[in-house]
Amino acid sequence: MEKQEANSKLQERKMVGRLLLFPLPVQGHINPMLQLANILYSRGFNITIIHTFFNSPNISNYPHFTFEAISKESITGFPTIPGGAAKVIHLNKVCFEPFHDCVERLLSNSSADDRILCLITDALLYFTQDVAEVLKLPRIVLRTSSLAAFHVLYLHPTLLHKGYLSVQDSNSEAPVPEAEPLKVKDISQTYQIEGEDLGMMIAGMMTGTKAASAIVWNTFEELEQSVLPTIQQNFPIPSFTIGPFHKYFTASASSLLEQDKTAISWLDMQAPLSVLYVSFGSVALIDKSEFFEMAWALANSKQKFLWVVRPGVIRGSEWLESFPDGLQEAVSERGHIVKWAPQQEVLAHPATACFWSHCGWNSTLESICEGVPMICSPSFGDQPTNARYVEAVWKVGLVLENGIKREEIERAIRRVMIDQEGKEMRMRMSCLKKKVNLCLMEGGSSYKSLEGLVNFILSL
Ligand code: UDP
Repeated sequence: MEKQEANSKLQERKMVGRLLLFPLPVQGHINPMLQLANILYSRGFNITIIHTFFNSPNISNYPHFTFEAISKESITGFPTIPGGAAKVIHLNKVCFEPFHDCVERLLSNSSADDRILCLITDALLYFTQDVAEVLKLPRIVLRTSSLAAFHVLYLHPTLLHKGYLSVQDSNSEAPVPEAEPLKVKDISQTYQIEGEDLGMMIAGMMTGTKAASAIVWNTFEELEQSVLPTIQQNFPIPSFTIGPFHKYFTASASSLLEQDKTAISWLDMQAPLSVLYVSFGSVALIDKSEFFEMAWALANSKQKFLWVVRPGVIRGSEWLESFPDGLQEAVSERGHIVKWAPQQEVLAHPATACFWSHCGWNSTLESICEGVPMICSPSFGDQPTNARYVEAVWKVGLVLENGIKREEIERAIRRVMIDQEGKEMRMRMSCLKKKVNLCLMEGGSSYKSLEGLVNFILSL
């Protein structure tokens, strides 16, 4: 009987069809794409992940998916290309042929009972829209940022035209009426790198997204209600806000680096709400001088802290060799340092009181889902927008306005972890956490949006 049931389930799954997913090969994009793959698998779709050899996902963690690696030659030299936008542009050029050939082969080998329904690809892999058109396969875009940060990128030509990108005072606190509540300095920071490359990358992403069949967002309606109508107006294709993706399943299996579990055993020994968690994600870099400022601020704060110092995060250092004498002792009294942490577990731990973050979108969402207030040190891209929303819209954290300076950091730690102001931020975070739980429940906004996405795919 059980065997019969399993067989008929398999038959049902086969009848639903197959989706081809292609993530951008960096941690903050791989995680949501594989989470989305798991969500859609749980709704009956067969999944094939197409991936580059560089930063390829850990296949053994996904025995239920099929994996297809596209040609090694296509990304030769990719990791050594200086600059994120230049890397993305390179990928969009060199992946066309191997990706096209791979999808064409999969299409010709597919059977009627396991039909390929569509491509789901990262918005930054905009070349896949051309492949989709050539092969007459619908393409759905996954955008891994917030709606607000995407909108700020959409405004790039306007902001450029109005002179915001060439302002003399890149520390200006003046408001930007076109992109409230951002300040001029947030815009400078967003676009600080790679002028022309960045413009090309954004234009490619916007054109590719406009031509797609639909967009999937790792966010939820209640969080970004004010931006959704603008996005829908600018991109008149279905938008599915089905996030936060990572809340659908507990395990995080797509980490490229090994997660140090001592982070959790160390947290287990700390008092409730006593620890500051510090991590700047998988891409952001800091200077040695900033690292010293961070270390002194943490030592002087007199708070317990769990600090992720990713190998290579300090420019010019392999790992911790640049710790000045004396400081390491001061730090080790109160803190625990790891190379990479199981971040979702850390944020969910009862000892964690505050997250000092670079405000990548995954980190921001993960903090919101666990109700942990934030201290924000954005560096580039979508991070300044996320940070400004944390402080000014959701009012659940503080932005370090003057970079990484020890007195300001110490003040911020006090404000969020000790003062009444911090308690209020925590209360507002708890409200957002409740909204997350509601939006995923039957009848909630993300639940309904996922139903809509599944029906949309089945109608293609
Ligand atoms: N992450 C992790 N361990 C760490 C630091 C980060 O597992 O020590 C994960 C984190 O949970 C998040 C992702 O890495 O899912 C980072 O994505 P985000 O968008 O925040 O930043 P990015 O790395 O893209 O700048």
